[in-house]
Amino acid sequence: MNWINGTLRTAGTSLLYRCAWKVATRVAVSMFLLIATLAWSQPVPGSLDVYWNEGASDCSATPQDPLQIHKYEPQTFVLRQSPCADFEANFIYLLIGSDKALLIDTGAVADPKAMPLAKTILELLPEKDHKKLPLLVAHTHRHVDHRAGDPQFASLPSVRVVPIDLEGVRAFFAFVRWPNGIAHLDLGGRTVDVIPTPGHNSTHVAFYDERTGILFSGDFLLPGRLLIEDAAAYRESALRVIDFLRTHPLTHILGGHIELTAAGRAYRFGSHYHPNEHRLELARADLTALPAALEHFNGFYARYPNYILTNPIHNLLALAVIAVAILIFIVWGVRRLVHRRRGSAPGFPQ
Ligand SMILES: [Zn+2]
Ligand SMILES: [Zn+2]
Repeated sequence: MNWINGTLRTAGTSLLYRCAWKVATRVAVSMFLLIATLAWSQPVPGSLDVYWNEGASDCSATPQDPLQIHKYEPQTFVLRQSPCADFEANFIYLLIGSDKALLIDTGAVADPKAMPLAKTILELLPEKDHKKLPLLVAHTHRHVDHRAGDPQFASLPSVRVVPIDLEGVRAFFAFVRWPNGIAHLDLGGRTVDVIPTPGHNSTHVAFYDERTGILFSGDFLLPGRLLIEDAAAYRESALRVIDFLRTHPLTHILGGHIELTAAGRAYRFGSHYHPNEHRLELARADLTALPAALEHFNGFYARYPNYILTNPIHNLLALAVIAVAILIFIVWGVRRLVHRRRGSAPGFPQ
């Protein structure tokens, strides 16, 4: 009996050891795969150590290059239009994959002599099979300062320009339930996710680059004035992007303009001179603060450390109401004055 008990105990212990070994092996393999996956999905690092062209108080006396080119990493370029070329001073982004390249926005200047955008982009494009890589030109939204350069690309071979109207955008990216859903662009070894972000403009989209972990946010989120066309849609867009980024690494949020000083003050609208600019890149915290900021927005103006919320239509209406009120007051005052003078004039019937 003792012998049987002993054998059973030994067999039980050996079974326990084998189970423990199996579990430990599985845990180790899972940990290895997890660590390996995390390591593989780490964004490619890049540099934003750059001093952007600040324009000038007198542009005619200070000639400067219309376009500044910054290599973030070998396959990602940030281009900035000089504030002297146009006060909007747009940022334009070029993302290069192994099969094609993506250009995000074409800026505020149409004239190729004043702004040789297409020529510059073609020079930056690498060759594949002795031909320039095909290029897709897309826009964050249809405002003219983000698409004025489109005609420069219209007749180029191997270039496709995404339409600017909402129907065209929806159809091109195959959005079925706009503004919900995410579209994907495959550039060859590089996927870019397209996220609908209406609110500033009904056609607005943001681009998330899986290679660098950058969100290209256009006018949806930038260090400047967030011009609100539809606050409810804007808030929904912010929540949509926050939700998307829960499962994606984020390195930077890069918008279409810089309109603030480093201290957070806005440059005068239309200014060609941007001394001491705010940094271009915003962070996840700026995005996560946006839904609450939009929820509490008074409909006119609200200042935050890295952006300003404003509704230009409401502000114009408010100015018009104030102007009319002042006019009514002046007319009333003049009439009252004339009436009094007539009343005090000699011979005026009392
Ligand atoms: Zn815009
Ligand atoms: Zn803009």
